[in-house]
Amino acid sequence: MKTQVAIWAGKIIGVLSRALGHGGSTIPGIVARKLDAKFLRHSRSIAKTIFYITGTNGKTTTANLISHLLQTAGQSVMTNREGSNMVTGLSACLVQSAPLIGWKKYDVAVLEVDEASLPNAIAECPSDYLLITNFFRDQLDRYGEIDLLIKKMKDSLKYFAGNFIINADDPFSNRFSNLKKDNIYVGLNAHAYPFDSYLMTESRYCPNCQNELSYSSVHYGHLGHYHCTCGFKRPETTFAAEKVFNDKKGIRLVIDDEEYPTTFKGLYNAYNVLFAIQACQALDVKPDVLRKGLMTYQNSKGRMQEFLVNGKVWRLNLVKNPAGGNVTLSEYFEGDETKLLMFCLNDNLADGEDISWIWDIDMELANRDELELFIASGTRAHDAALRMKYTGFPEKKIIILPDMNEAVLYAKRFESPTYIMATYTCLSPMISILSKEAEKENKGDSNLETSTIPLLSRYTQSVWRQGKYYLLKKAMRMEGDFSTSRRNQKPK
Ligand SMILES: [Zn+2]
Repeated sequence: MKTQVAIWAGKIIGVLSRALGHGGSTIPGIVARKLDAKFLRHSRSIAKTIFYITGTNGKTTTANLISHLLQTAGQSVMTNREGSNMVTGLSACLVQSAPLIGWKKYDVAVLEVDEASLPNAIAECPSDYLLITNFFRDQLDRYGEIDLLIKKMKDSLKYFAGNFIINADDPFSNRFSNLKKDNIYVGLNAHAYPFDSYLMTESRYCPNCQNELSYSSVHYGHLGHYHCTCGFKRPETTFAAEKVFNDKKGIRLVIDDEEYPTTFKGLYNAYNVLFAIQACQALDVKPDVLRKGLMTYQNSKGRMQEFLVNGKVWRLNLVKNPAGGNVTLSEYFEGDETKLLMFCLNDNLADGEDISWIWDIDMELANRDELELFIASGTRAHDAALRMKYTGFPEKKIIILPDMNEAVLYAKRFESPTYIMATYTCLSPMISILSKEAEKENKGDSNLETSTIPLLSRYTQSVWRQGKYYLLKKAMRMEGDFSTSRRNQKPK
């Protein structure tokens, strides 16, 4: 009864909070937990199988992809949204998913769990599977706190009876290996892809003996095939991508001789895809279903999200730590077409108030002739500009516009595609600015948002897919009055 009251109270507060204009994503959880302190344990009553996904990078994408693939396979899935990955957020998700009376059985709960919240989540409701994606030092962790965090997490998992799915290529994640036998290890085979050899900002020291690790193959950051003189080494994978290809349409993985094309941009997504496929295979989802799901998956907001404004492409990616910055730059500078780079840097609590981490991003990757302009924006625009200046990039090509609206207006003057790196609290405003711009132009002339791409002619679609963005304006003009044709073809 106590639980039922907690659910009702949570639901009522949730409705009130939304009515009052507060997002209130975690408030129902807070209320439910006031009435039932270990409320999260009821996750077990609502879902047959529970996945927790934790780690520094890729949690959200991996969780969203697993949910999508399972839904494609016809399973009912309960999942939490990004930002609601602490115990209160997980509890809020449970309140929202629960029916008014009794428990609805979902087939699966796919829950992204903040690393620091994992011990509490495990104590209240141990999952069936725990996916550990990776650990990267982020903006808040520059003084060895990552070791403390991993130790706390391990302590909470001493009696964990579920299955670990661990990133074999990450020495930090490997530290969970000795908790249990028969772990599932995912990773990329040596030289699965010729990754750029850019700076490794991560520490590459053995967690056992503190000696420097040796690598026979490096993917990026500290991920790769490592070993130490003390015997600590990358475990043999149980599930590996033999090859990764970076096609224009998206990355493509070869696993157990099966090909998996995806819509993902960005090689670092190979790990997210690998984890998701492994998780689904644990529930017997067949390769054909997985392939279908991978091709129908839409990127999470702000994850290599594309917009079409002013007849050119704008690509937006969240960057929250040096490793993420490096892979984003590497992706952005994959081709040698001219481009604009925008770095939106805020220093709010959610971004990390200490922004010194930007000095660990290998911004030198962006100091190239094809970079027409570097625009620094956000509350710490000046710091972003200074970082770029130190790469030796010409000062006259660095523009500082703290206001993101102004930054977008400025970038609109140029024909080259604009690639944007945004810290956490810059992301939502930037999505809304670009969406509004795209919408505004949609009404008047031949511009459109990514979601309208399927409505284009086959020729324009092919121009888009091949990445020949400079031809887009022309292609769309050839289509005639786009706004009319779009109206006619408007799907239900
Ligand atoms: Zn060692």
